[in-house]
Amino acid sequence: MLTHFIGGQPVAAGTTFPVHDPVTGAVAGQAHEADPEVVDRAVRAARQAARDWSSMPVGERAGWMRRLAEGIEARFDDLVAAEIADTGKSLEQTRTLDIPRGIANFRAFAEIAAQRPEDAFHLSGMLSYTVRRPLGVVAVIVPWNLPFLLMTWKLAPALVAGNTVVVKPSEHTPGSAAVFAEICAEAGLPPGVVNIIFGYGSAGQLLVEHPGVDAVTFTGSTKTGSTIMKSVADRVKPISFELGGKNAGIVFDDAGLDRAVEGTAKSVFTNGGQVCLCTERMYVQRSIFEDFCAALAVRAQEVELQPMISAEHREKVLSYYALARSEGAKMRAGGSVPLFGDHRDSGYFVEPTVVTGLSEWSRFNREEIFGPVCHVAPFDSEAEAIDLANGSEYGLAATVWTAGLDRAHRVAQRLEAGLVWVNTWYLRDLRTPFGGVKLSGIGREGGTRSLDFYSEPTTITIKLEQHDA
Ligand code: NAD
Repeated sequence: MLTHFIGGQPVAAGTTFPVHDPVTGAVAGQAHEADPEVVDRAVRAARQAARDWSSMPVGERAGWMRRLAEGIEARFDDLVAAEIADTGKSLEQTRTLDIPRGIANFRAFAEIAAQRPEDAFHLSGMLSYTVRRPLGVVAVIVPWNLPFLLMTWKLAPALVAGNTVVVKPSEHTPGSAAVFAEICAEAGLPPGVVNIIFGYGSAGQLLVEHPGVDAVTFTGSTKTGSTIMKSVADRVKPISFELGGKNAGIVFDDAGLDRAVEGTAKSVFTNGGQVCLCTERMYVQRSIFEDFCAALAVRAQEVELQPMISAEHREKVLSYYALARSEGAKMRAGGSVPLFGDHRDSGYFVEPTVVTGLSEWSRFNREEIFGPVCHVAPFDSEAEAIDLANGSEYGLAATVWTAGLDRAHRVAQRLEAGLVWVNTWYLRDLRTPFGGVKLSGIGREGGTRSLDFYSEPTTITIKLEQHDA
């Protein structure tokens, strides 16, 4: 039974809810569900801890971040096991991406914060400089697709900037957060600096609306982002939103077919397509369109399957497969449910799928599906490819595949997305800005941009009298 973590202590309060194993569909565990009283207790604990934590020198807080990174290393295998139990991810991905990125997040923000200069301007007769103050108590609301990676991506900068936090992980993936609570306790982190509560969206709603919460950082769907925005509007709380996407990729005929297919397969099928940065719309130059579709369809059949997170999400993905069929699409690969002949048949799997022949106006090409699926369409000119890629209400990420240096820069700079990759996908330097345009988010996190969000500058100006000595 997973318990909340409040004021440095496990708290077994509230009713409970089941957590399912997506590989088999079976109930794998239970967690406590935060009610208004639990939420209030967590926010109060965070407020109480805020005074000492915020006044600690940043170098000391950076030291705590390094100790948390060491704590994660020490509990690496437990975190891997918890993450796999909740998501059905592969051992390989969990060991090389999800948990290591959590360590990297704490180490990177320890360095970035400790080395960050403040502004100072000296004009004749005055000196203006800024000091940065934390926001106070930050609500951290995160989704299920990369639970530990995304939670720590927000926690590390929020904490090192001097905030205390109340985290609400997804109802589908409480496991790695529960292990992290133990890591905080084992490290001796001051009680109340990190508080973790479990529950559904209703618990998240109670948290963001709580008057003791000063700011909200959220990763999740655009729909939930919009609901949160309305909930906090009256109190004008600062928000940072990393939301959904409908990411496009463009393949030019000089790209090198093998490289473009390989990279595209990774960008479509990684994590069962359940990464906000995954590609769902591909545009391929007409001369190589058929070869590209055939090769991608082969790759789709070779993918190691990862389940969808829930029965509900699986139904959603399958409904888009049915929609494509009903609109006369050609299913180049997949399109239904895989049969294993073992315990996985009651799990939440869908086939990796490649679709062609749908209009750009189809809901299939406009709405985020969040599964191992993409639509591929041909284009004739560079300008047309750019228009097609930009013809979405979302703008999180895009990929460009070409050997032309000029074209790579030209196209990348015209794509309406917060992140553009050329001849690769998912490569990240944690110091660079991360976020989306249009329906894909508000604000940027990453490097000093994260610290900008998690703190507010006060400008201090001193008049300097000009006296002769
Ligand atoms: P979701 O919006 O359903 O849930 C995200 C979190 O918000 C969960 O913890 C949920 O319990 C909570 N929540 C739900 N309703 C709430 C409310 N009214 N108030 C407060 N909290 C509430 O998203 P999901 O299905 O968990 O995640 C998938 C989505 O996340 C996709 O749209 C994906 O693109 C997006 N995502 C974006 C990024 C990014 O960096 N832009 C990264 C990962 C995932």
